[in-house]
Amino acid sequence: MNPADLIREDLRDFAGYGSARRTSVTGSIWLNANESPWANVADAERTLHRYPDPQPQTLRVRLADLYCAEPEQLLVGRGSDEAIDLLVRALCNPGQDAVVVAPPVFGMYAVSARLQNAPLVEIPLRDGADGFSSDLDAMRVAAVASGAKLVFLCSPGNPTGQALPLADIAALAESLRGQAMVIVDEAYGEFSEESSAVSLIETLPNVAVLRTLSKAHALAGARIGTLIADARLIAVLRNCQAPYPLPAPCVQMALQALQPDALLQTRVRVAEIIAERERLYRGLQMLPAVRRAYPSQGNFLLARFLNVEAALQGLLTAGIVVRDMRHQPQLGDALRISIGKPDENDAVLTTLSEERVAA
Ligand code: PMP
Repeated sequence: MNPADLIREDLRDFAGYGSARRTSVTGSIWLNANESPWANVADAERTLHRYPDPQPQTLRVRLADLYCAEPEQLLVGRGSDEAIDLLVRALCNPGQDAVVVAPPVFGMYAVSARLQNAPLVEIPLRDGADGFSSDLDAMRVAAVASGAKLVFLCSPGNPTGQALPLADIAALAESLRGQAMVIVDEAYGEFSEESSAVSLIETLPNVAVLRTLSKAHALAGARIGTLIADARLIAVLRNCQAPYPLPAPCVQMALQALQPDALLQTRVRVAEIIAERERLYRGLQMLPAVRRAYPSQGNFLLARFLNVEAALQGLLTAGIVVRDMRHQPQLGDALRISIGKPDENDAVLTTLSEERVAA
């Protein structure tokens, strides 16, 4: 199965925009991109008057190392948000090809589907004794019935925190082979015990994985996200991407963050966040104001409150901003709390233990 066959028929041989940096010519006088011949006075490095490389090979090689993939399997973009949007636009014919999601879940899958006018099929997560779980069998049935092109799995799930077993993802992808791509969003993968679905791509080319430098690598502001998939699919998607998706200063920052010493520091920070997550989880479970706290494999915790409005207002009064989840299905009494520094997490616990919050 060639996953590029799942691309919209009208885009399969689309060459995209032939930007000045995509042609492999060499020279010393560059007059082909209507750039300024001089650098801006503010540009100390004197490089930004030139358009950037659309997909710098050094960055692809380092990210491929990090994610245990081949450079040709990578599409790097403006956060994983861009990859989500690109997948929906390139695979789904408007008004026809559906996208399957399992709410409550990260909202961008639905936003991209809406922008493309792709039908959205929702198979709710099930809330059980061990936390939320995906009904993958129902997702498979719905994907087949609706003729979906994309099934989005979020593992660990945002906001619910659960990770999906690799074997279950593989079984779903196997049953949708040739029909739909199964996209595994591993934005929080570094905080999880489950192994990455990247290892499935070779045998199941309809699996693709989303990774990002925004979370564990602490570079949300640099907007560097990666789609990892079969090289044939990546090649077509590259033609559908913006001409210069990666600002040069962001690429430089990412390359520095991928140096061994920075990676070591990231691993230390991830361990610290995981330890803090477990401490906050235990702390929340003991508070009278908390109806239920869910275990999490991410860098956040989801909790239900006896009086969610009082909890939210109490936190805001203390200057603590958390994510109100009440607009999400099944989460009318819930807040999502990102794991902060130890003293920030202490402030959450102290505030939520105050009497007026528990009322
Ligand atoms: N996927 C998930 C599950 C997320 O929670 C987020 C950000 N909140 C993203 C993707 C997007 O991340 P980015 O665009 O910063 O890579």
